[in-house]
Amino acid sequence: MTDDMRLLIDLHLPNDRQGPGSDAATQMALKLAGVQADPGLKIADIGCGTGAAAFCLARHLGASVTAVDFLPEFLTELNRRAQDLGLAARVQTLEASMEDLPFDDASLDVIWSEGAIYNMGFESGLTAWRRFLKPGGVLAVSELTWLTDQRPEPLTRHWDEAYPEVATAGRKIRQIETAGYEPVGYFPLGTDCWMENYYLPLQRSFPAFLDRHGHSEQAKALVDAEQAEIALYETYSDFVSYGFYVARRLPD
Ligand code: SAH
Repeated sequence: MTDDMRLLIDLHLPNDRQGPGSDAATQMALKLAGVQADPGLKIADIGCGTGAAAFCLARHLGASVTAVDFLPEFLTELNRRAQDLGLAARVQTLEASMEDLPFDDASLDVIWSEGAIYNMGFESGLTAWRRFLKPGGVLAVSELTWLTDQRPEPLTRHWDEAYPEVATAGRKIRQIETAGYEPVGYFPLGTDCWMENYYLPLQRSFPAFLDRHGHSEQAKALVDAEQAEIALYETYSDFVSYGFYVARRLPD
């Protein structure tokens, strides 16, 4: 593993979330999906990080959740948090790549993934994960989304380069249909999901992070990069957010 990767993990590990989101948004997506609490549900949270969504799902559905990530550091932290929350019996961790998931075909009732599908790309993820869902099973994913058709040039330039799949919700919903799902609903995440729940806790953790790494140039460069991302979001939050997309697997 590169030093930069090690630093990135160390920076994000202490936080509740590794991307924008909220319990309210997770619950709103659950409501859209119409999933009823049932201890027999088979649920996977893909790219779970330290587990914010997995814990919310386990609580509200009264079911076991398989929390999947390819970073064992996050899974160890997730297990520690699950113990503290009294959820250890209901959240199992699985170290695996989202590009090579070990689930059986048509074995899952729910595939959840917040702020993570971009790592393999939205269309690739939708297509690859479909087979793991039972027909009628629910897919709920959050994904970077343009909120408007017209946008300031510097914002479009930044994201077209950093994540070329960024698009409006209309386009994303058509991709969901093309991949063999019935779209059920969509809503954009509000600014609280980005600021209060993600960027502000991250900013608060910068001083301790820099101390842990003796204010090395590499650590400072990482903090600077995060600060630049935060500034970009704050300037342009009317134009870009994560969209939460809920869909059901159509029969073949
Ligand atoms: N869902 C969490 C974390 C989002 S950050 C939250 O909302 O807080 C994205 C997560 O995807 C990270 O935990 C990262 O380790 C994981 N990830 C990135 N690439 C992955 C891959 N190829 N396979 C599995 N997990 C991956």
